[in-house]
Amino acid sequence: MKKTVGALVVLAALMSLAAQAGCGRQDIRTEIAKWQDGKAAAVSLTYDDGSINQFRVAVPLMKGFGFPATFHIITGEISGSRYHGAFIGRPTDAIVRETAGVPTGPDNFFERASAIGRLGLQGGFDYHLRAGEMFEDGKIDAAYRLIDEAYAKVRQGAFKPESAPPPDGGKNALTWDDLKVLAGEGYEFSSHTVTHPRLAVLDEANLVYELEKSREDILDHLGPKHTFTIECPFGTEDERAVGYALARYPASRNRLSEAFLEELNRWNDKDPAASAKEYVQWQRGVLTATAMSQMKGWVDTIAGRDNIWLVLVFHGVDGIGWEPKTGAELEEYFGYIKSLEARLWVATFQDVTKYMRERMRGQVTTSRRGGTIEVDLRHDLPADVYDLPLTLKTHVPAGWTSVEVRQGSRTTSASPARDERGPYVLYQAVPNVGPVSLIKRPG
Ligand SMILES: [Zn+2]
Repeated sequence: MKKTVGALVVLAALMSLAAQAGCGRQDIRTEIAKWQDGKAAAVSLTYDDGSINQFRVAVPLMKGFGFPATFHIITGEISGSRYHGAFIGRPTDAIVRETAGVPTGPDNFFERASAIGRLGLQGGFDYHLRAGEMFEDGKIDAAYRLIDEAYAKVRQGAFKPESAPPPDGGKNALTWDDLKVLAGEGYEFSSHTVTHPRLAVLDEANLVYELEKSREDILDHLGPKHTFTIECPFGTEDERAVGYALARYPASRNRLSEAFLEELNRWNDKDPAASAKEYVQWQRGVLTATAMSQMKGWVDTIAGRDNIWLVLVFHGVDGIGWEPKTGAELEEYFGYIKSLEARLWVATFQDVTKYMRERMRGQVTTSRRGGTIEVDLRHDLPADVYDLPLTLKTHVPAGWTSVEVRQGSRTTSASPARDERGPYVLYQAVPNVGPVSLIKRPG
C-alpha cells in the first residue's frame, strides 16, 4: 500500500515537471467547461404570469446587478395580442343541452371542461380550474361531478354574463412594445399559454390552441428567439399536456426529458447534491413566506457543488401577483447572488438549456502546428437554434504567457491560468462555424 502511494507521488511529480518544462510531449487537449466561463453552477431567475411589478420593480433591480431573466407570459392578457380565450369545437349550445341528459364521464369530460370557461359566464373559468386541479390530484369522479354541477348552473341561468375587458387591458396591462425593448436587452420571454388554463383537462383542439396561438403571438411580436421555452401553467406534470408542449417548443420548465439531467421540481424535497447525474435542475419556488435565510441557503448549496442549475420561480412583486415578494427582499437576494458571482453563471432558462444540450452533444478536436493550436467545436443539434457559444478549456504549452483567441473575424486574448495538468486558457467558441485558433503571443 505504502509503495503504491509513493509511486503515485513520484509519478505526479514527474508529470508536473514534464508539464512545467513544456517538453513538447504534453498532450494538448480541450474540454468543454461544464458551465459557461468555467463557473461552478448556474442560476436562472424566472417569473410567472407577467404581473406588472415584475417589470416596474424587479427588472430595474436586475438591471442594476446585470442579471438576465426569463418571463413566462400569458399572451392573451397582453395588449395588442391577436389571440385570446376561445373554444375550439362544436357550438357550445349543443354541449350545454347534452349535459341535461348525459352525465359527465371519460367520453365528454375534456370537451366540457374546455367549454365551461368559454361560455362568456362569470365563474365558468373558475369551474374549469377547479375541475382541472381535482383531475390532476387524481380525484377524477369528483372532477366529473363538479363539471355536472357547473353545467346545471349554466342551464338554470345562475351565472351572470362576463363584462367586456377594457380595450387597452387597463393600467396594469403589459404591452408588446415594452416587452420588445426588454427582449432587445437580453431578457427571455417564454410562453405561459394564451389564458393560463389547466391544460391537463383540455381536449386536443383546445390544448393545441393554447400552445400554438400563444407561440404565434410571441413569434409575431418578439421573433423566433422567444419561442424556445414554455411553462405549462400550475407547473403541471401531466404527461399528455407536457408532451404536446414539447412537440411545439424545444424546452419546457415543467420537464426537459434529458437523460443527462435530473429534474427536481418545486415540490420535490430530494437533496440535489445526492444525484449522480451529469446535471441537476433544482427548481425552488419563492413564496411570500419563504425565508431569506432559506433562499440564500439554496445559493450556498449550488455554489459548493459543480453540477446544479438552480431555477428560481418568482410570481408576484410588491403586492401585485400571486405570493408576492417585496422589491426590498428581491434586492437583498439578488445582492447575495451577485456576491457569489465568481462561482455562479446567471443566465436565462433558454441559455442554460442550450448550454447543457450543446455540451452533451458537442465534439471538440484539438491539433497543434508550431505556435498555433487549432480547436474545432461541433454538435449535431439544429444550428440555427443552438448557436450559444460554449466555454472551452485548452491546456497550452508551458511558456505560453499570453494567448490570442481567433474565431472567424472575432479576436480576443486570454491569459493562461494553471491547474494540476499545467497552464490552460478558458475562452468562448461558437459551435459549427469553423475552427478557433489559439496563437502564442510574444510575452
Ligand atoms: Zn402561472
